[in-house]
Amino acid sequence: MTSFTYRCTDCGRTFARDEVRYLCPECGSSYRPGIPLVGVLEAVFDDGAIRSAFDHARPDWQLFCAVEREFHPPLPVGNTPLAKVDRLGRELGLSRLWVKNDGLNPSGSLKDRASFLVVAEALRLGERRVVAASTGNAASALAAVCASAGLEALIFVPEKAPRAKLVQMVLAGATVVPVRGTYDDAFRLSLEYTASRGGLNRNTAYHPLTIEGKKTAGLEIWAQLGFEVPDAIVVSVGDGVILGGVHKAFVDLKRAGLVDRLPRLVGVQAERSDAIHRYVQTGRYEDAPDPSTRADSISVVCPSNAHGARRAILESRGLTLTVSDEEILQAQSLLMGRTGIFSEPAGAAALAGLVKLQGGPARLGAQERVVVLATGHGLKDVEAPLSRISIPPAIEPVLEAVKA
Ligand SMILES: [Zn+2]
Repeated sequence: MTSFTYRCTDCGRTFARDEVRYLCPECGSSYRPGIPLVGVLEAVFDDGAIRSAFDHARPDWQLFCAVEREFHPPLPVGNTPLAKVDRLGRELGLSRLWVKNDGLNPSGSLKDRASFLVVAEALRLGERRVVAASTGNAASALAAVCASAGLEALIFVPEKAPRAKLVQMVLAGATVVPVRGTYDDAFRLSLEYTASRGGLNRNTAYHPLTIEGKKTAGLEIWAQLGFEVPDAIVVSVGDGVILGGVHKAFVDLKRAGLVDRLPRLVGVQAERSDAIHRYVQTGRYEDAPDPSTRADSISVVCPSNAHGARRAILESRGLTLTVSDEEILQAQSLLMGRTGIFSEPAGAAALAGLVKLQGGPARLGAQERVVVLATGHGLKDVEAPLSRISIPPAIEPVLEAVKA
């Protein structure tokens, strides 16, 4: 761990680590559930200390970590493989394409990274209960990490979350509260709960260490590419916190003088869950009133990190685009069929965006180093691909039947 202070991403005020817990006390006072978060805090590390201690031969990610190692939960997360996918790359006109397979985290999604760090913070603070609202993955991640640490996970989740994710939470012993309503309703309810009943709230971007946890995916990408900055990273976007986290990785590296540029971020949203895309396009924020999509993990009316995600896209000279559910399911099939990587629809949305980008005038160059972030495992929601494939019927166990 390296010493750090929190800085408000809106007003720039700085706070000592234990002076604040969630949002900037000034800016956050104007926040009410139903609007994007304001006063989101970012951890600003002692860059000189990182620069002098970082050893490329033995990279120590603890230097970029906001919680001391002694508080880390026992369940290892991250260190997921980065697969070079030449067969897929050839079809997209890209000779240097990789997929970061974050579905191989313990609970099957990138969200384990954020849950790991917030649970570490709960252990440091002596909190026994961690509370979250989630579309499903953050909750199953929190349930798993809490189980390993012996803490209680209290989870508010939309009743329509995929069953595999609900099974994960219940098996891990979490207290699961399905909510009749959307993810946004669950988000509001969980804030009301922690405000009146206590516990540490893990809501995404609301707790600043969720962004710090997710940034580890970006740090790993940098190391796995031989300490080179990729030209572009393609990320599916719901609340905009994974996008913000990946961006923060390269911001931290740049502040420490370890890299000299930021990768372009390509943010991909589902057609109806497109609040951040429209915000980037117009500069004016509006909700996505009906965000229904098969990619449940990126279905959100009001993205909590809308402001941070827009800043990340602009700072990185990136772009956003939207894809249809059909394009997402086609991309899921393409990813599995060309690389063997089974990603849930939300993760495959990133590839759907890249396919669309490569078919248009803003396509990435053949020599650019491009990373697609596959954020969750396909086994979390097998109902989605079943809507467009058919399983062959059984035959009698005789050779003639096989020939037929
Ligand atoms: Zn502020």
